[in-house]
Amino acid sequence: MNKITSLITSTIIIILLMIIAVFMLKNNKKDNLTYEKNITIKVGENIPNINDYIDDSNATELTFNDIKSDNNRVFYSGIYKGYFKYNDKKYSVKLTVIDEEKPTITGVKDISIYKGTNIDLFENIVISDNSKDELSKKVEGTYNINKVGVYSLKYVIIDKSSNKTEANFKLNVVDKKNLNTNTSTLSSKGYKIEKKNGIYYVNGILIANKTYSLPSNYNPGVLLNDFMTNFNKMQNDAKKSNINLRIISGFRSYQTQQSLYNNYAARDGKNAADRYSARAGHSEHQTGLAADINSLEQTFEYTSEGKWLNNNCYKYGFIIRYPKGKESITGYMFEPWHIRYVGVDIATKLYNNGNWLSLEEYLGITSKY
Ligand SMILES: [Zn+2]
Repeated sequence: MNKITSLITSTIIIILLMIIAVFMLKNNKKDNLTYEKNITIKVGENIPNINDYIDDSNATELTFNDIKSDNNRVFYSGIYKGYFKYNDKKYSVKLTVIDEEKPTITGVKDISIYKGTNIDLFENIVISDNSKDELSKKVEGTYNINKVGVYSLKYVIIDKSSNKTEANFKLNVVDKKNLNTNTSTLSSKGYKIEKKNGIYYVNGILIANKTYSLPSNYNPGVLLNDFMTNFNKMQNDAKKSNINLRIISGFRSYQTQQSLYNNYAARDGKNAADRYSARAGHSEHQTGLAADINSLEQTFEYTSEGKWLNNNCYKYGFIIRYPKGKESITGYMFEPWHIRYVGVDIATKLYNNGNWLSLEEYLGITSKY
């Protein structure tokens, strides 16, 4: 053989050997049981079904060991190792659960506090997310509660998958001395207390209690529309459950309240009368936003009407104005029959999942003569 023929032959042999090597490697891979299948889903989606990926009834369902699921849905992002069996061989599966949605933040507003008052900046903030992963929640920016000023701050909420939500707000640190010279002041919870035409509003809510009184000329004459519209709705819905609600005492004028209270005080003494009756100008009945329902007996609490009212009135914007066990805060004994319209948002917060808060606690105001 000449040199050229020998070179060609050896080249052919090398190429053949390489082809055999590649073939063997490939065959080897086919026999290897640990080939990995990759599946990606989004947070909140169902754990995948094997038949979505392999069209063969001989394959078993996908099995994951460490997955936390709720009705077969996955709410935690991450990587989960699992497997399925096919023709008696076990194949591993990698499930990647991704989260592309940002958390949401509601209730953001500017906050005012007195200098030196500690505050939880997340107190009235509601944060939610599509995943159940832990969220990082922080306030960015610097502020000093001991130094008067307006501080521009930002809530920053980040989920485990780095989806970020931001919301700007201002923290207004004010001096008590300055506030006293203003017409508006702040409650201990930082809500604005304003006096307009002799009427007090806290966080925009009209207040009549032992501390805050209404002028004698404030006289809507009847229950206001806000009260009546929502009461009628509530009354109709209650009727569907065979619950009959009726107003036994609604609007009362300053003058009516004056003679009522004077009669009670003459009969029981001032101290006793102050526990259940308001002095003129201090009654919620003068607001046109409050009424007594069905009964003036404390046992009303245990009747089906009393229970229904207690558990449902908040859905229509009403609160049990003088809750049980709150006499030292509201200034009045428990009145399961006395409701006050404040709107659904505030009423739901005060309902507090059945553990009523008083308006005084929520707003951070007093009720004392
Ligand atoms: Zn009442």
